[in-house]
Amino acid sequence: LTSSPASPGLYVVHIAAEMAPVAKVGGLGDVVTGLSKALQKKGHLVEIILPKYDCMQYNRVRDLRALDVTVESYFDGKLFQNKVWVGTVEGLPVYFIEPHHPNKFFWRGQYYGEHDDFKRFSFFSRAALELLLQAGKKPDIIHCHDWQTAFVAPLYWDLYAPKGLNSARICFTCHNFEYQGTASATELASCGLDVPQLNRPDRMQDNSAHDRVNPVKGAIVFSNIVTTVSPTYAQEVRTAEGGRGLHSTLNFHSKKFMGILNGIDTDAWNPTTDIFLKVQYSANELQGKAENKAAMRRHLGLLSADDQQPLVGCITRLVPQKGVHLIRHAIYRTLEMGGQFVLLGSSPVAHIQREFEGIANQFQNHEHIRLILKYDESLSHYIYAASDMFIIPSIFEPCGLTQMIAMRYGSVPIARKTGGLNDSVFDVDDDTIPHQFRNGFTFTTPDEQGVNGAFERAFNLYKNNQKSWQQLVRNDMNIDFSWDSSASQYEELYAKSVARARAAAIHT
Ligand code: ADP
Repeated sequence: LTSSPASPGLYVVHIAAEMAPVAKVGGLGDVVTGLSKALQKKGHLVEIILPKYDCMQYNRVRDLRALDVTVESYFDGKLFQNKVWVGTVEGLPVYFIEPHHPNKFFWRGQYYGEHDDFKRFSFFSRAALELLLQAGKKPDIIHCHDWQTAFVAPLYWDLYAPKGLNSARICFTCHNFEYQGTASATELASCGLDVPQLNRPDRMQDNSAHDRVNPVKGAIVFSNIVTTVSPTYAQEVRTAEGGRGLHSTLNFHSKKFMGILNGIDTDAWNPTTDIFLKVQYSANELQGKAENKAAMRRHLGLLSADDQQPLVGCITRLVPQKGVHLIRHAIYRTLEMGGQFVLLGSSPVAHIQREFEGIANQFQNHEHIRLILKYDESLSHYIYAASDMFIIPSIFEPCGLTQMIAMRYGSVPIARKTGGLNDSVFDVDDDTIPHQFRNGFTFTTPDEQGVNGAFERAFNLYKNNQKSWQQLVRNDMNIDFSWDSSASQYEELYAKSVARARAAAIHT
Protein backbone atom coordinates (compact mmCIF):
# COMPACT_ATOMS: atom_id res chain seq x y z
CA LEU A 1 0.00 0.00 0.00
CA THR A 2 1.15 3.54 -0.59
CA SER A 3 2.72 5.28 2.37
CA SER A 4 1.70 8.72 3.58
CA PRO A 5 4.42 11.35 3.47
CA ALA A 6 5.30 13.07 6.73
CA SER A 7 3.51 16.39 7.09
CA PRO A 8 3.93 19.13 9.69
CA GLY A 9 0.17 19.63 9.92
CA LEU A 10 -2.61 17.23 10.84
CA TYR A 11 -3.27 14.03 8.94
CA VAL A 12 -6.97 13.94 8.06
CA VAL A 13 -8.78 11.09 6.31
CA HIS A 14 -12.31 11.62 5.01
CA ILE A 15 -14.44 8.52 4.56
CA ALA A 16 -17.44 9.50 2.44
CA ALA A 17 -20.01 8.28 -0.07
CA GLU A 18 -19.60 11.37 -2.32
CA MET A 19 -16.90 13.68 -3.60
CA ALA A 20 -17.37 16.39 -6.27
CA PRO A 21 -16.94 16.22 -9.20
CA VAL A 22 -16.28 12.46 -9.49
CA ALA A 23 -19.18 11.15 -7.43
CA LYS A 24 -21.63 13.94 -6.61
CA VAL A 25 -25.32 13.79 -5.79
CA GLY A 26 -25.65 16.95 -3.70
CA GLY A 27 -24.03 19.29 -1.19
CA LEU A 28 -22.13 16.47 0.59
CA GLY A 29 -19.92 15.95 -2.46
CA ASP A 30 -19.12 19.68 -2.63
CA VAL A 31 -18.25 19.83 1.06
CA VAL A 32 -15.85 16.86 1.00
CA THR A 33 -13.89 18.40 -1.88
CA GLY A 34 -14.11 22.04 -0.78
CA LEU A 35 -13.12 21.37 2.81
CA SER A 36 -10.33 18.98 1.80
CA LYS A 37 -8.84 21.45 -0.69
CA ALA A 38 -8.89 24.23 1.90
CA LEU A 39 -7.28 22.04 4.58
CA GLN A 40 -4.62 20.88 2.13
CA LYS A 41 -3.86 24.52 1.30
CA LYS A 42 -3.36 25.17 5.01
CA GLY A 43 -0.61 22.53 5.08
CA HIS A 44 -2.50 19.47 6.32
CA LEU A 45 -2.24 16.05 4.76
CA VAL A 46 -5.71 15.12 3.53
CA GLU A 47 -6.79 11.83 1.97
CA ILE A 48 -10.23 10.66 0.94
CA ILE A 49 -11.65 7.14 0.81
CA LEU A 50 -14.60 6.53 -1.53
CA PRO A 51 -16.41 3.49 -2.91
CA LYS A 52 -15.40 2.72 -6.49
CA TYR A 53 -18.75 3.24 -8.21
CA ASP A 54 -19.33 2.13 -11.78
CA CYS A 55 -21.21 5.40 -12.48
CA MET A 56 -18.42 7.78 -11.34
CA GLN A 57 -17.01 10.46 -13.63
CA TYR A 58 -13.79 8.56 -14.34
CA ASN A 59 -12.54 11.34 -16.62
CA ARG A 60 -12.20 13.59 -13.55
CA VAL A 61 -9.72 11.21 -11.81
CA ARG A 62 -6.04 11.63 -12.65
CA ASP A 63 -3.51 8.75 -12.62
CA LEU A 64 -5.99 6.11 -11.51
CA ARG A 65 -4.21 2.84 -10.80
CA ALA A 66 -4.84 -0.33 -8.81
CA LEU A 67 -2.56 -1.19 -5.90
CA ASP A 68 -0.78 -4.56 -5.93
CA VAL A 69 -2.14 -5.65 -2.58
CA THR A 70 -5.77 -6.26 -1.76
CA VAL A 71 -7.46 -5.53 1.55
CA GLU A 72 -9.38 -8.31 3.25
CA SER A 73 -12.53 -7.22 5.02
CA TYR A 74 -15.22 -8.95 7.11
CA PHE A 75 -18.86 -9.08 6.07
CA ASP A 76 -21.78 -11.35 7.05
CA GLY A 77 -19.56 -13.95 8.69
CA LYS A 78 -17.03 -14.18 5.84
CA LEU A 79 -13.94 -12.41 4.60
CA PHE A 80 -13.91 -10.65 1.22
CA GLN A 81 -11.08 -9.16 -0.79
CA ASN A 82 -11.21 -5.52 -1.82
CA LYS A 83 -9.22 -4.15 -4.69
CA VAL A 84 -7.92 -0.69 -3.82
CA TRP A 85 -7.37 2.01 -6.43
CA VAL A 86 -5.58 5.33 -5.99
CA GLY A 87 -5.93 8.48 -8.03
CA THR A 88 -5.98 12.25 -7.78
CA VAL A 89 -9.15 14.33 -7.81
CA GLU A 90 -8.84 18.13 -7.79
CA GLY A 91 -5.29 17.70 -6.52
CA LEU A 92 -6.38 15.46 -3.64
CA PRO A 93 -5.22 11.87 -3.10
CA VAL A 94 -8.19 9.51 -3.17
CA TYR A 95 -8.50 5.77 -2.44
CA PHE A 96 -11.33 3.94 -4.18
CA ILE A 97 -12.48 0.65 -2.67
CA GLU A 98 -13.77 -2.02 -5.04
CA PRO A 99 -15.26 -4.91 -3.06
CA HIS A 100 -14.99 -8.38 -4.54
CA HIS A 101 -18.35 -9.32 -3.12
CA PRO A 102 -20.81 -11.27 -5.28
CA ASN A 103 -23.48 -8.62 -4.70
CA LYS A 104 -21.42 -6.02 -6.61
CA PHE A 105 -22.18 -3.38 -4.00
CA PHE A 106 -21.08 -0.32 -5.98
CA TRP A 107 -21.72 -1.59 -9.48
CA ARG A 108 -25.39 -0.65 -9.69
CA GLY A 109 -25.48 2.33 -12.04
CA GLN A 110 -26.52 4.71 -9.24
CA TYR A 111 -25.12 6.01 -5.98
CA TYR A 112 -28.09 5.58 -3.65
CA GLY A 113 -31.57 4.13 -3.58
CA GLU A 114 -30.74 0.41 -3.64
CA HIS A 115 -32.64 -2.05 -1.41
CA ASP A 116 -29.42 -2.96 0.41
CA ASP A 117 -27.99 0.54 1.00
CA PHE A 118 -27.57 -0.17 4.72
CA LYS A 119 -25.48 -3.25 3.96
CA ARG A 120 -23.52 -1.68 1.12
CA PHE A 121 -22.43 1.32 3.13
CA SER A 122 -21.78 -0.49 6.41
CA PHE A 123 -19.58 -2.82 4.34
CA PHE A 124 -17.76 0.18 2.87
CA SER A 125 -17.30 1.86 6.28
CA ARG A 126 -15.60 -1.25 7.62
CA ALA A 127 -13.47 -1.83 4.51
CA ALA A 128 -12.22 1.79 4.71
CA LEU A 129 -11.06 1.28 8.30
CA GLU A 130 -9.49 -2.04 7.32
CA LEU A 131 -7.56 -0.21 4.58
CA LEU A 132 -6.20 2.27 7.13
CA LEU A 133 -5.26 -0.53 9.55
CA GLN A 134 -3.59 -2.78 6.98
CA ALA A 135 -1.70 0.14 5.42
CA GLY A 136 -0.36 1.07 8.85
CA LYS A 137 -1.69 4.58 8.50
CA LYS A 138 -1.83 6.78 11.60
CA PRO A 139 -4.34 9.56 10.91
CA ASP A 140 -4.98 12.24 13.50
CA ILE A 141 -8.58 12.68 12.36
CA ILE A 142 -10.98 10.32 10.63
CA HIS A 143 -13.87 12.41 9.32
CA CYS A 144 -17.05 10.58 8.31
CA HIS A 145 -20.16 12.07 6.72
CA ASP A 146 -23.90 11.35 6.84
CA TRP A 147 -25.48 8.02 7.66
CA GLN A 148 -23.67 6.12 4.91
CA THR A 149 -20.31 6.34 6.70
CA ALA A 150 -21.64 6.98 10.22
CA PHE A 151 -20.81 3.30 10.97
CA VAL A 152 -17.15 4.33 11.07
CA ALA A 153 -17.57 5.80 14.57
CA PRO A 154 -18.79 2.68 16.44
CA LEU A 155 -16.62 0.41 14.26
CA TYR A 156 -13.54 2.44 15.13
CA TRP A 157 -13.98 2.39 18.90
CA ASP A 158 -15.43 -1.12 19.22
CA LEU A 159 -13.25 -3.01 16.74
CA TYR A 160 -10.41 -1.00 15.20
CA ALA A 161 -8.93 0.94 18.13
CA PRO A 162 -8.45 -2.40 19.97
CA LYS A 163 -6.74 -3.78 16.82
CA GLY A 164 -4.21 -0.93 16.92
CA LEU A 165 -5.71 1.71 14.60
CA ASN A 166 -5.82 4.04 17.55
CA SER A 167 -4.13 7.30 16.57
CA ALA A 168 -7.30 9.09 15.50
CA ARG A 169 -10.13 11.19 16.84
CA ILE A 170 -13.42 10.73 15.01
CA CYS A 171 -15.30 13.67 13.50
CA PHE A 172 -18.83 13.18 12.11
CA THR A 173 -20.68 15.72 9.97
CA CYS A 174 -24.40 15.40 9.35
CA HIS A 175 -25.38 17.27 6.20
CA ASN A 176 -29.13 16.70 6.57
CA PHE A 177 -30.86 15.12 9.58
CA GLU A 178 -33.78 14.12 7.36
CA TYR A 179 -31.76 11.09 6.25
CA GLN A 180 -30.77 8.79 9.13
CA GLY A 181 -30.51 5.37 7.50
CA THR A 182 -32.35 3.46 10.24
CA ALA A 183 -32.76 -0.31 9.81
CA SER A 184 -33.78 -3.39 11.72
CA ALA A 185 -31.26 -3.87 14.55
CA THR A 186 -30.23 -7.31 13.32
CA GLU A 187 -28.78 -5.79 10.11
CA LEU A 188 -25.99 -4.25 12.14
CA ALA A 189 -24.41 -7.66 12.63
CA SER A 190 -23.39 -7.79 8.95
CA CYS A 191 -20.46 -5.46 9.47
CA GLY A 192 -19.44 -7.20 12.68
CA LEU A 193 -20.92 -4.77 15.19
CA ASP A 194 -22.39 -6.25 18.37
CA VAL A 195 -26.19 -5.89 18.13
CA PRO A 196 -27.15 -6.35 21.82
CA GLN A 197 -24.34 -4.03 22.90
CA LEU A 198 -25.36 -1.31 20.47
CA ASN A 199 -29.15 -1.60 20.35
CA ARG A 200 -29.45 0.34 23.60
CA PRO A 201 -31.13 3.72 24.23
CA ASP A 202 -27.79 5.38 25.08
CA ARG A 203 -26.07 3.97 21.97
CA MET A 204 -27.49 3.21 18.51
CA GLN A 205 -31.12 2.38 19.24
CA ASP A 206 -33.50 4.56 17.27
CA ASN A 207 -35.31 6.96 19.58
CA SER A 208 -38.76 6.04 18.29
CA ALA A 209 -38.52 2.39 17.14
CA HIS A 210 -36.77 0.19 19.65
CA ASP A 211 -36.15 -2.73 17.35
CA ARG A 212 -34.26 -0.46 14.96
CA VAL A 213 -30.79 1.03 14.97
CA ASN A 214 -29.94 4.52 13.80
CA PRO A 215 -26.45 5.04 12.28
CA VAL A 216 -26.61 8.84 12.67
CA LYS A 217 -27.40 8.45 16.36
CA GLY A 218 -24.50 5.98 16.64
CA ALA A 219 -22.11 8.50 15.11
CA ILE A 220 -23.33 11.25 17.46
CA VAL A 221 -22.72 8.98 20.47
CA PHE A 222 -19.38 7.52 19.35
CA SER A 223 -17.64 10.49 17.68
CA ASN A 224 -15.34 12.95 19.40
CA ILE A 225 -16.56 15.86 17.26
CA VAL A 226 -20.04 16.19 15.73
CA THR A 227 -20.86 18.99 13.33
CA THR A 228 -23.60 20.07 11.02
CA VAL A 229 -23.52 22.56 8.17
CA SER A 230 -24.70 25.86 9.68
CA PRO A 231 -25.05 27.39 13.16
CA THR A 232 -28.80 28.04 12.81
CA TYR A 233 -29.51 24.48 11.63
CA ALA A 234 -27.46 23.23 14.62
CA GLN A 235 -29.92 25.09 16.88
CA GLU A 236 -32.98 23.93 14.94
CA VAL A 237 -32.10 20.23 15.14
CA ARG A 238 -31.84 20.50 18.91
CA THR A 239 -35.60 21.21 19.07
CA ALA A 240 -38.38 18.61 18.95
CA GLU A 241 -39.73 20.15 15.70
CA GLY A 242 -36.41 20.20 13.87
CA GLY A 243 -34.47 17.23 15.23
CA ARG A 244 -36.22 14.43 13.33
CA GLY A 245 -36.21 12.41 16.56
CA LEU A 246 -32.57 13.10 17.41
CA HIS A 247 -32.94 16.35 19.39
CA SER A 248 -32.61 14.61 22.77
CA THR A 249 -29.46 12.78 21.64
CA LEU A 250 -27.97 16.02 20.30
CA ASN A 251 -28.83 17.86 23.49
CA PHE A 252 -27.26 15.14 25.61
CA HIS A 253 -24.07 15.39 23.52
CA SER A 254 -24.25 19.15 23.00
CA LYS A 255 -20.70 19.83 24.24
CA LYS A 256 -19.20 18.18 21.19
CA PHE A 257 -21.81 19.43 18.71
CA MET A 258 -21.38 22.53 16.55
CA GLY A 259 -22.70 24.12 13.34
CA ILE A 260 -20.16 25.37 10.80
CA LEU A 261 -21.40 27.13 7.66
CA ASN A 262 -20.24 25.53 4.41
CA GLY A 263 -18.25 27.53 1.90
CA ILE A 264 -18.45 27.34 -1.91
CA ASP A 265 -15.74 26.47 -4.39
CA THR A 266 -14.81 29.97 -5.50
CA ASP A 267 -12.67 28.65 -8.37
CA ALA A 268 -15.54 26.73 -9.92
CA TRP A 269 -18.00 29.57 -9.22
CA ASN A 270 -16.23 32.64 -10.49
CA PRO A 271 -17.96 35.09 -12.89
CA THR A 272 -14.63 36.58 -13.96
CA THR A 273 -13.40 33.26 -15.40
CA ASP A 274 -16.58 31.18 -15.89
CA ILE A 275 -16.43 29.54 -19.32
CA PHE A 276 -20.16 28.75 -19.32
CA LEU A 277 -21.09 32.44 -19.53
CA LYS A 278 -21.68 34.49 -22.64
CA VAL A 279 -19.52 37.25 -21.17
CA GLN A 280 -17.31 37.13 -18.07
CA TYR A 281 -17.75 40.02 -15.65
CA SER A 282 -16.84 41.38 -12.25
CA ALA A 283 -18.33 43.62 -9.57
CA ASN A 284 -16.56 46.58 -11.14
CA GLU A 285 -17.91 45.89 -14.57
CA LEU A 286 -21.59 44.99 -14.40
CA GLN A 287 -22.26 45.64 -18.08
CA GLY A 288 -21.15 42.04 -18.65
CA LYS A 289 -23.90 40.82 -16.34
CA ALA A 290 -26.48 42.78 -18.38
CA GLU A 291 -25.13 41.16 -21.55
CA ASN A 292 -25.59 37.69 -20.06
CA LYS A 293 -29.16 38.61 -19.16
CA ALA A 294 -29.91 39.78 -22.69
CA ALA A 295 -28.29 36.69 -24.20
CA MET A 296 -30.15 34.36 -21.83
CA ARG A 297 -33.48 35.98 -22.73
CA ARG A 298 -32.75 35.46 -26.41
CA HIS A 299 -31.58 31.91 -25.78
CA LEU A 300 -34.79 31.02 -23.92
CA GLY A 301 -37.10 33.02 -26.19
CA LEU A 302 -38.15 35.48 -23.49
CA LEU A 303 -39.24 39.00 -24.44
CA SER A 304 -36.31 41.40 -24.21
CA ALA A 305 -37.97 44.70 -25.04
CA ASP A 306 -37.64 46.05 -21.50
CA ASP A 307 -34.07 46.10 -20.21
CA GLN A 308 -35.25 47.05 -16.76
CA GLN A 309 -37.63 44.16 -16.27
CA PRO A 310 -36.17 42.07 -13.41
CA LEU A 311 -35.31 38.44 -14.08
CA VAL A 312 -35.90 36.06 -11.15
CA GLY A 313 -33.93 32.81 -11.11
CA CYS A 314 -34.47 29.55 -9.22
CA ILE A 315 -32.20 26.49 -9.41
CA THR A 316 -33.15 23.60 -7.18
CA ARG A 317 -34.05 20.01 -6.58
CA LEU A 318 -37.85 20.10 -6.51
CA VAL A 319 -38.46 18.34 -3.18
CA PRO A 320 -40.80 19.38 -0.31
CA GLN A 321 -37.81 20.67 1.73
CA LYS A 322 -37.30 23.41 -0.86
CA GLY A 323 -40.85 24.82 -0.51
CA VAL A 324 -42.13 23.70 -3.92
CA HIS A 325 -45.58 25.25 -3.36
CA LEU A 326 -43.89 28.60 -2.67
CA ILE A 327 -41.72 28.26 -5.77
CA ARG A 328 -44.89 27.72 -7.79
CA HIS A 329 -46.47 30.76 -6.14
CA ALA A 330 -43.35 32.85 -6.86
CA ILE A 331 -43.68 32.09 -10.59
CA TYR A 332 -47.23 33.51 -10.74
CA ARG A 333 -46.42 36.39 -8.41
CA THR A 334 -43.45 37.41 -10.57
CA LEU A 335 -45.73 37.54 -13.58
CA GLU A 336 -48.28 39.70 -11.73
CA MET A 337 -45.54 42.10 -10.66
CA GLY A 338 -44.14 42.50 -14.16
CA GLY A 339 -41.00 40.38 -13.84
CA GLN A 340 -39.61 37.37 -15.65
CA PHE A 341 -38.92 33.97 -14.12
CA VAL A 342 -36.54 31.14 -15.06
CA LEU A 343 -36.64 27.86 -13.16
CA LEU A 344 -34.05 25.12 -13.57
CA GLY A 345 -34.93 22.06 -11.53
CA SER A 346 -35.94 18.46 -11.50
CA SER A 347 -37.71 16.23 -9.06
CA PRO A 348 -37.19 12.67 -7.87
CA VAL A 349 -40.82 12.80 -6.64
CA ALA A 350 -43.12 11.73 -9.49
CA HIS A 351 -46.17 13.86 -8.60
CA ILE A 352 -44.05 17.01 -8.15
CA GLN A 353 -42.28 16.42 -11.46
CA ARG A 354 -45.69 15.98 -13.14
CA GLU A 355 -47.07 19.14 -11.54
CA PHE A 356 -44.15 21.22 -12.76
CA GLU A 357 -44.34 19.66 -16.21
CA GLY A 358 -47.92 20.96 -16.26
CA ILE A 359 -46.76 24.47 -15.37
CA ALA A 360 -43.91 24.25 -17.90
CA ASN A 361 -46.41 23.36 -20.63
CA GLN A 362 -48.75 26.16 -19.60
CA PHE A 363 -45.91 28.65 -20.13
CA GLN A 364 -44.28 26.86 -23.08
CA ASN A 365 -44.11 29.87 -25.39
CA HIS A 366 -44.71 32.54 -22.79
CA GLU A 367 -42.83 35.84 -23.08
CA HIS A 368 -41.86 36.02 -19.43
CA ILE A 369 -41.73 32.56 -17.87
CA ARG A 370 -39.58 29.53 -18.66
CA LEU A 371 -39.30 26.25 -16.74
CA ILE A 372 -36.46 23.88 -17.63
CA LEU A 373 -37.03 20.59 -15.86
CA LYS A 374 -33.68 18.84 -15.92
CA TYR A 375 -30.24 18.84 -14.32
CA ASP A 376 -27.90 21.04 -16.38
CA GLU A 377 -24.62 22.23 -14.89
CA SER A 378 -23.70 24.70 -17.66
CA LEU A 379 -27.17 26.25 -17.83
CA SER A 380 -27.08 26.69 -14.05
CA HIS A 381 -23.99 28.92 -14.35
CA TYR A 382 -25.66 30.96 -17.04
CA ILE A 383 -28.85 31.49 -14.99
CA TYR A 384 -26.91 32.61 -11.90
CA ALA A 385 -25.18 35.17 -14.12
CA ALA A 386 -28.28 36.33 -16.00
CA SER A 387 -30.71 36.72 -13.12
CA ASP A 388 -31.22 39.83 -11.02
CA MET A 389 -32.90 38.04 -8.11
CA PHE A 390 -32.82 34.48 -6.86
CA ILE A 391 -35.63 32.84 -4.87
CA ILE A 392 -35.00 30.18 -2.16
CA PRO A 393 -38.20 29.69 -0.11
CA SER A 394 -37.04 26.55 1.76
CA ILE A 395 -39.11 24.98 4.53
CA PHE A 396 -35.82 23.88 6.07
CA GLU A 397 -32.30 24.23 4.71
CA PRO A 398 -29.29 22.72 6.51
CA CYS A 399 -26.90 25.09 4.73
CA GLY A 400 -27.84 25.75 1.11
CA LEU A 401 -25.29 26.68 -1.52
CA THR A 402 -27.43 28.38 -4.16
CA GLN A 403 -27.86 31.61 -2.18
CA MET A 404 -24.07 31.94 -1.92
CA ILE A 405 -23.47 31.12 -5.58
CA ALA A 406 -26.22 33.57 -6.59
CA MET A 407 -24.61 36.39 -4.61
CA ARG A 408 -21.20 35.65 -6.13
CA TYR A 409 -22.83 36.20 -9.54
CA GLY A 410 -24.66 39.36 -8.42
CA SER A 411 -28.12 37.82 -8.20
CA VAL A 412 -29.77 39.12 -5.03
CA PRO A 413 -31.28 36.34 -2.87
CA ILE A 414 -34.88 36.33 -1.66
CA ALA A 415 -34.80 33.65 1.02
CA ARG A 416 -36.75 32.22 3.88
CA LYS A 417 -35.02 32.68 7.24
CA THR A 418 -34.16 29.09 8.10
CA GLY A 419 -31.00 27.04 8.66
CA GLY A 420 -27.99 28.15 6.63
CA LEU A 421 -30.08 30.74 4.77
CA ASN A 422 -30.50 32.54 8.09
CA ASP A 423 -26.70 32.54 8.50
CA SER A 424 -25.89 33.88 5.04
CA VAL A 425 -28.77 36.11 3.83
CA PHE A 426 -29.38 39.32 5.78
CA ASP A 427 -32.29 41.60 4.97
CA VAL A 428 -31.54 45.03 3.51
CA ASP A 429 -34.26 46.49 5.75
CA ASP A 430 -33.21 44.79 9.00
CA ASP A 431 -31.99 47.51 11.36
CA THR A 432 -30.52 44.98 13.78
CA ILE A 433 -27.91 44.00 11.16
CA PRO A 434 -24.96 46.33 10.43
CA HIS A 435 -25.33 47.90 6.97
CA GLN A 436 -22.27 46.25 5.45
CA PHE A 437 -23.70 42.74 6.09
CA ARG A 438 -27.12 43.32 4.54
CA ASN A 439 -27.26 41.46 1.25
CA GLY A 440 -30.77 40.30 0.31
CA PHE A 441 -34.44 39.98 1.20
CA THR A 442 -35.74 37.54 3.78
CA PHE A 443 -39.08 36.39 5.12
CA THR A 444 -40.00 34.27 8.12
CA THR A 445 -43.35 32.56 7.62
CA PRO A 446 -43.27 29.83 4.95
CA ASP A 447 -46.43 31.00 3.19
CA GLU A 448 -47.54 33.10 0.23
CA GLN A 449 -47.75 36.29 2.30
CA GLY A 450 -44.15 35.78 3.36
CA VAL A 451 -43.00 35.44 -0.26
CA ASN A 452 -45.14 38.40 -1.37
CA GLY A 453 -43.74 40.76 1.25
CA ALA A 454 -40.12 40.02 0.34
CA PHE A 455 -40.85 40.12 -3.41
CA GLU A 456 -42.57 43.51 -3.17
CA ARG A 457 -39.62 45.05 -1.34
CA ALA A 458 -37.15 43.57 -3.82
CA PHE A 459 -39.10 44.72 -6.89
CA ASN A 460 -39.62 48.11 -5.34
CA LEU A 461 -35.91 48.69 -4.82
CA TYR A 462 -35.05 47.31 -8.26
CA LYS A 463 -37.56 49.47 -10.09
CA ASN A 464 -37.31 52.69 -8.09
CA ASN A 465 -33.73 52.91 -6.96
CA GLN A 466 -31.35 51.39 -9.52
CA LYS A 467 -28.37 53.08 -7.89
CA SER A 468 -28.94 51.33 -4.56
CA TRP A 469 -29.70 48.09 -6.38
CA GLN A 470 -26.41 48.18 -8.27
CA GLN A 471 -24.58 48.91 -5.03
CA LEU A 472 -26.28 45.88 -3.43
CA VAL A 473 -25.25 43.71 -6.39
CA ARG A 474 -21.63 44.87 -6.10
CA ASN A 475 -21.60 44.24 -2.33
CA ASP A 476 -22.99 40.74 -2.79
CA MET A 477 -20.38 39.89 -5.43
CA ASN A 478 -17.59 40.94 -3.07
CA ILE A 479 -18.67 38.80 -0.09
CA ASP A 480 -16.15 36.09 0.76
CA PHE A 481 -17.97 32.74 0.60
CA SER A 482 -14.77 30.72 0.14
CA TRP A 483 -13.92 27.76 2.35
CA ASP A 484 -11.12 29.63 4.12
CA SER A 485 -12.89 30.66 7.29
CA SER A 486 -15.04 27.51 7.60
CA ALA A 487 -11.98 25.31 7.10
CA SER A 488 -10.24 27.24 9.89
CA GLN A 489 -13.10 26.36 12.20
CA TYR A 490 -12.77 22.66 11.37
CA GLU A 491 -9.01 22.97 11.80
CA GLU A 492 -9.50 24.39 15.28
CA LEU A 493 -11.95 21.65 16.29
CA TYR A 494 -9.58 18.96 14.98
CA ALA A 495 -6.54 20.47 16.71
CA LYS A 496 -8.31 20.86 20.06
CA SER A 497 -9.58 17.29 19.96
CA VAL A 498 -6.15 15.91 19.07
CA ALA A 499 -4.52 18.01 21.81
CA ARG A 500 -7.04 16.74 24.40
CA ALA A 501 -6.33 13.14 23.38
CA ARG A 502 -2.57 13.68 23.64
CA ALA A 503 -2.90 15.34 27.04
CA ALA A 504 -5.05 12.46 28.26
CA ALA A 505 -2.50 9.93 26.96
CA ILE A 506 0.31 11.63 28.92
CA HIS A 507 -1.74 11.45 32.12
CA THR A 508 -2.45 7.72 31.84
P1 ADP B 1 -29.16 20.43 -1.94
O1 ADP B 1 -27.81 19.83 -1.61
O2 ADP B 1 -30.19 20.29 -0.86
O3 ADP B 1 -29.69 20.02 -3.28
P2 ADP B 1 -27.71 22.95 -2.06
O4 ADP B 1 -28.20 24.37 -2.18
O5 ADP B 1 -26.82 22.64 -0.91
O6 ADP B 1 -28.99 22.03 -2.09
O7 ADP B 1 -26.91 22.55 -3.41
C1 ADP B 1 -27.52 22.54 -4.66
C2 ADP B 1 -26.47 22.48 -5.75
O8 ADP B 1 -27.00 21.76 -6.87
C3 ADP B 1 -26.08 23.85 -6.29
O9 ADP B 1 -24.73 23.78 -6.74
C4 ADP B 1 -27.03 24.03 -7.49
O10 ADP B 1 -26.51 24.91 -8.47
C5 ADP B 1 -27.10 22.61 -8.01
N1 ADP B 1 -28.36 22.29 -8.72
C6 ADP B 1 -29.58 22.04 -8.18
N2 ADP B 1 -30.48 21.74 -9.14
C7 ADP B 1 -29.81 21.79 -10.32
C8 ADP B 1 -30.18 21.59 -11.71
N3 ADP B 1 -31.43 21.25 -12.05
N4 ADP B 1 -29.23 21.73 -12.65
C9 ADP B 1 -27.97 22.08 -12.31
N5 ADP B 1 -27.56 22.28 -11.04
C10 ADP B 1 -28.46 22.14 -10.06
